Amino acid sequence: MSDLPGDSTATSDRAVTEPADQAAFRLEARAFLTEHAEPLAAIDPWQVSGFPDDQQARSYFERGRDWQRTLATHGWAGLTWPSEFGGAGRPSWAERVFREESASFGSHAGFIGSTIAMLGPTLQVHATEAVTARFLPSLISGEVAWCQLFSEPGAGSDLAGLATRAVRDDDHWVVDGQKVWNSCAQFADWGFLLARTDPDAPKHRGITFLLVDMSSPGVEVRPLVQANGSTHFNEVFLTGVRVPADQVVGEIHGGWAPARTVLANEAAFIGRGGGVPASDRLRDLAAQHGGLDDPRIRQRLATVITRERLQGLMGQRIQAAVRDGREPPFDPGLTKVMAAATKVLTGDLAAELAGPAGMVDTDRTSTWIQAEVINRFSISIGGGTTEVQKNNLAERSLGLPREPGHDRNTPWKDVPRG
Ligand SMILES: Cc1cc2nc3c(=O)[nH]c(=O)nc-3n(C[C@H](O)[C@H](O)[C@H](O)COP(=O)(O)OP(=O)(O)OC[C@H]3O[C@@H](n4cnc5c(N)ncnc54)[C@H](O)[C@@H]3O)c2cc1C
Repeated sequence: MSDLPGDSTATSDRAVTEPADQAAFRLEARAFLTEHAEPLAAIDPWQVSGFPDDQQARSYFERGRDWQRTLATHGWAGLTWPSEFGGAGRPSWAERVFREESASFGSHAGFIGSTIAMLGPTLQVHATEAVTARFLPSLISGEVAWCQLFSEPGAGSDLAGLATRAVRDDDHWVVDGQKVWNSCAQFADWGFLLARTDPDAPKHRGITFLLVDMSSPGVEVRPLVQANGSTHFNEVFLTGVRVPADQVVGEIHGGWAPARTVLANEAAFIGRGGGVPASDRLRDLAAQHGGLDDPRIRQRLATVITRERLQGLMGQRIQAAVRDGREPPFDPGLTKVMAAATKVLTGDLAAELAGPAGMVDTDRTSTWIQAEVINRFSISIGGGTTEVQKNNLAERSLGLPREPGHDRNTPWKDVPRG
């Protein structure tokens, strides 16, 4: 899951042409950022967000949380969300203006930002007022950090086939099962979890969306060590975990609806990109390796820059719709599919510009190039694979016939499983 900040389309002189209230807000935002945020120039442009050990990963995670707290303390968190739920209650343009101004600074909420983007709108759309009032303010302020507990060893693309069970026991749900690939779960305070509550119903109709305290007895988080030594992912084992019955989002057995809201917002968050645009680094690499005068390199650079801008604008349109409580103008999966394809273009160009040394050297620039090449896989898998996103786009946006689904109407308990 991408977790970097900002907006590659930012400029500092928009204030001249926009309405007076937006221009005034922009200046206020700029003053706040100048006082509290890290200037972009202080950030290593070749920084990558994968860490070789858990300690560094934790400190990166906590820096993100600290920034979210700073935003909240000064009234800049949850800008367009209702003030009664910890937001700032600003108009929908405020988020865009703030993002544009933030692009000149390096501070960002990191992973916390992605969970706010996923869970915030889901609580607002699907949770009761009591649940929203209890959980949204501390989500927005970064006081409580969340992780996503969806995927399982036997349920990734076919998420609705999940097998983690929750059985009602008086005023609790008792959860047993295993989750996997849970980003930053080792640092999270709470998790949003999908569990099977009605095995007699077809797979999409027997799931409940639960909010789980990660310090509950029976929750065991085991970090997964990747080939590069980092531990971004975890396995989470749940054994007899008791979840109070009032920690449900949406209808009991109707958890697929909030799950889809999470997934749509996750795809939009990943797709919109952010941070220092890869094209800036590609331009630096082209300059270093004498590619700036080569019309073929210039053409490829222009393609990357155009796609980055388009993805940013598409992300803004989706987010504006979400903030206004409207349906997104197009399937958010489209931006994610596009971002995954752009990553292939940037990785290929970076590797070609630097030549073989870029793949084997260990200096910061080469490390960035290697991450840019390898991250094409994570971006096209996390939040729903490119293949599955394309299936969804074909069905939902293009109206093509549904993928054959032999188990769509079969009770989940009767579906054969490996
Ligand atoms: C960076 C990253 C972060 C993640 N973070 C989290 C997290 O925080 N929480 C969480 O719960 N999960 C997380 N995941 C897991 C992620 O959601 C799953 O990996 C993803 O949904 C794919 O599931 P899978 O790995 O089981 O692959 P599978 O579903 O087994 O897919 C294997 C291959 O088959 C293809 N395939 C499957 N079904 C179809 C189909 N119907 N049509 C065409 N092709 C198909 C897929 O595209 C893929 O290429 C993360 C993954 C990554 C890479």
